[in-house]
Amino acid sequence: MCTMSLLVLKKSDVASLLSMEKCIELMSDALASLARGDVVLPLRPVIRIPDSRNAFGVMPAYSASLKAIGAKLISVFPDNHGTALDSHQGAVALFDGTNGSLLSLMEAGSITAIRTAAVSGVATKLLARKDARTVAILGSGVQGRTHIDAMMTVRPFTRVIVWSRNPAHAHTLIEAAAKAHRVTFEVSGTAAAAVANADVVCTVTASREPVLEGAWLRDGVHINAVGASLPSTRELDSTAVKRSRVFVDRRESAVHEAGDLIIPMKEGEFAMTDIVAEIGELLIGSATGRRNEQEITLFKSLGIAVEDLACAQYLYDRARTDGVGTLVDF
Ligand code: NDP
Repeated sequence: MCTMSLLVLKKSDVASLLSMEKCIELMSDALASLARGDVVLPLRPVIRIPDSRNAFGVMPAYSASLKAIGAKLISVFPDNHGTALDSHQGAVALFDGTNGSLLSLMEAGSITAIRTAAVSGVATKLLARKDARTVAILGSGVQGRTHIDAMMTVRPFTRVIVWSRNPAHAHTLIEAAAKAHRVTFEVSGTAAAAVANADVVCTVTASREPVLEGAWLRDGVHINAVGASLPSTRELDSTAVKRSRVFVDRRESAVHEAGDLIIPMKEGEFAMTDIVAEIGELLIGSATGRRNEQEITLFKSLGIAVEDLACAQYLYDRARTDGVGTLVDF
């Protein structure tokens, strides 16, 4: 009987090995492979913890192109925000797709933080107007931070406007972001004012009710709607969805999980057949993205396991090459 070596990567290992630029490239490849049919991706089971806003999700995937199997185990405890603990905590388990060995366990919060924003980066690169210069970020938590990095990677934004329910959190975010990016940062007193002048809007809040109203949107804007991932919650009102050409990470997930689309559908304002395409379909050229400078494009992000798997495989390969992480006899 042989002993297997398991590679453990902690949060700081993930951060040191994976840049936003690289992650955007990985997410493009992962979403394209999904569109080509190379990925097995069941819907994620989510346990809603009774009498709370807390949840626990299991996100498995197999990728033929990566020859990898993996699963993310993730707890989502929104009230951790503002404490020493992140709202998203857990591990990504990576298995060898050829012999089934468990290769690695990696800190999942940091992977979730970067890969989600990187996917919004891919969508923005494909769908935002080329002349987009102002981005509004609604929300100032972990995803607010990583979305600023992702947006700055894909377009030469000159102005970043942040709105958050607690303005002090928005100020803290822009103070940190200004150290990394030499552009104009502003805090907006209202979400409406933040959005009024934006070419791109990212909604990255844990709100269960709309924080973005369609009436505020100007023509030609691109929206990344990231925060809500349950059928009963949403960040966008129905008008925002109705005014938009809608793209998703994955249709099957959107139909079952995206309150941002399911609630307008129940209100008779949207049909799931209105979804134009998955982002991967744009990447492989089987669907058309933005058609003109006036239309509003909306990317509804839910987060899918192949994104975590692609990060995990890259991190594992890099860590083995660079000698990063801790090997454990298992
Ligand atoms: P954090 O806990 O770090 O931050 C939460 C943010 O939500 C804060 O900016 C907070 O604002 C804001 N917020 C909370 N409640 C409300 C409310 N009722 N109205 C308006 N704003 C509110 O979370 P993350 O940044 O990690 O995640 C943000 C959201 O994105 C979460 O819902 C999360 O589940 C989702 N997510 C989606 C992913 C995907 O793949 N699509 C992946 C990862 C996360 P303030 O500080 O001002 O109170």
